[in-house]
Amino acid sequence: MNATSLIFLVLVMLWVGIRLYLNQRQLQHVRNHRHAVPKPFDNTISLDEHKKAADYTAAKGQMSNLSLILEVLLLLLWTSAGGLQWLSTQAANFSDHTIVRGLFLVTGLLVISSIIQLPLTLWNTFNIEKKFGFNNTDLKTFILDRLKGLILFAAIGLPILSLIFWLLQQAGSLWWIYCWLIWTGFGLLLGWAYPTFIAPMFNKFSELEDKDLLLKINTLLQDNGFDASGVYVMDGSKRSSHGNAYFTGFGKSKRIVFFDTLLESLTHDQIIAVLAHELGHFKHKHIVKGLIVNAIITLIGFYLIDRFIHSPLPATLGVTDSSQITLLVLFVLVSPVLSFYLQPLFSWWSRKNEFEADEFAKQKSSAADLVSALLQMYKDNASSLTPDPLYSRIYYSHPPAHERIAALQQA
Ligand SMILES: [Zn+2]
Repeated sequence: MNATSLIFLVLVMLWVGIRLYLNQRQLQHVRNHRHAVPKPFDNTISLDEHKKAADYTAAKGQMSNLSLILEVLLLLLWTSAGGLQWLSTQAANFSDHTIVRGLFLVTGLLVISSIIQLPLTLWNTFNIEKKFGFNNTDLKTFILDRLKGLILFAAIGLPILSLIFWLLQQAGSLWWIYCWLIWTGFGLLLGWAYPTFIAPMFNKFSELEDKDLLLKINTLLQDNGFDASGVYVMDGSKRSSHGNAYFTGFGKSKRIVFFDTLLESLTHDQIIAVLAHELGHFKHKHIVKGLIVNAIITLIGFYLIDRFIHSPLPATLGVTDSSQITLLVLFVLVSPVLSFYLQPLFSWWSRKNEFEADEFAKQKSSAADLVSALLQMYKDNASSLTPDPLYSRIYYSHPPAHERIAALQQA
């Protein structure tokens, strides 16, 4: 074994070790606080609800340990154990055409990986989620979802991949800039098409009919100079009883979407407070900023792919193939080992945005309504109110319950 493959193995071990350690901390912390509802919530959350949240978090945590280990085994299987090299040889036997080979390689990789991960996905949906009363998915919906995913991959994924592979072969040393332009443009197109064409493949969307609520929503939107092309209710309950609300689309195609499960559990005032929070994200341009940051990171990513495939590194990671497409796929497989360390930064930024959106909601609706809506959502989703501080710093896209509510209650 040479130095680079050794460094790679050390990085992989560090990557999995840190994540297992964080999971363990989270599990332990939640278990240690299972016996009592923390102080600020003891009027609103019952001990049974609190224990349910702890047990759910613990069950999810154990599941996540398993899936982490599987993920690492898969990575090593594809890289050091020579899986990618093997698949690349199969692709070469399958076709003489470089782009067809590349598509064969990516499809094979995705299909094999998801078959290996299938038992865990099934266990999560039909055991854990069901046990805690969240799962409404039947086997038919589960299989149909996967089939639709495959169709989307064939209809959208394969053409864009073909284009990228073609540029990689034909566009010379600046291929990565062209690929980035196309990737970014395509992302914007998908963002536009998602609410109108893709999301309806998976769920039913109907216009919100509650006249009284609609009036309150329109008042809030008008007061803040906001247009949306409609307010929709999505049948989220088809799959799960977890609730949510979101904005989707750009410009005039913007839509407000409520999960039916959320509308059932919140009062009108609470719904307005949640909506005001979502408006806060728009007013602070979090979505646009997110798109820009994403575009910068993708540009760096494509540049690094270019450097990587022209370096001697791939051979030390179990790939002796000279096909640039195989090397690109290899990069995508191994990059999480390093990009993981950016996670705390992204989480911090996301939590900062959540605080800003809450602040906006506080001014435009009522802090008390948002607090009670959040408590109801924590309860409905069995979210832990006592996460491990380090774990939540690294992973949480939303501030932990006590910090978020404390900030809302500040005068
Ligand atoms: Zn938010």
